[in-house]
Amino acid sequence: MSGVSGIFKAIQSGTKHLLIRRFTLRYPEQKLKFVGDGYQFDPKEGVGIAGYKGRHILYHDKCTGCQLCAIACEGIAEAIGMVKIDKQWKHNKKSIMPQIDYGKCVFCGLCVDACPFYALFMTDDYELAAYTKEHLIYTPDQLSVKVDYEGNVEIKIDDHGATHG
Ligand code: SF4
Ligand code: SF4
Repeated sequence: MSGVSGIFKAIQSGTKHLLIRRFTLRYPEQKLKFVGDGYQFDPKEGVGIAGYKGRHILYHDKCTGCQLCAIACEGIAEAIGMVKIDKQWKHNKKSIMPQIDYGKCVFCGLCVDACPFYALFMTDDYELAAYTKEHLIYTPDQLSVKVDYEGNVEIKIDDHGATHG
């Protein structure tokens, strides 16, 4: 990119943000309300679907224990460990599934892209603070639960970024 077009793009981007209405969220009394689900992977198009990259959701009925999510994360954050699960699934011979350490995760979404069975997506869940490091580690069971917030300020995320109502 030449210097002139770089300056033009920077001005264009800055000007666009002048039109966006600012707001202050009185958290935790008020919360964000995301439109739609979090970041997912579209099997038909073979691309990621824009969405908030919050806490993951793991579908036990789809996870085969292939470990590709953990391998994808290895070079990024080493946040995924494969652990034994109690329940037996026909499609998961080793009975292992991912657990995620949110003390390490950088919410890049590469594990979602890597999962060939569409068993791992991300959700709008952003309330992950904990008092201990151990509580930041989510087991396969914890990852299978989807949390819905009663939000106040609507946020829409699409290919062009995030906007609020
Ligand atoms: S979102 Fe990124 S850092 Fe977090 S578990 Fe997935 S691959 Fe690892
Ligand atoms: S979540 Fe997907 S990539 Fe990870 S072990 Fe399960 S099936 Fe494999």
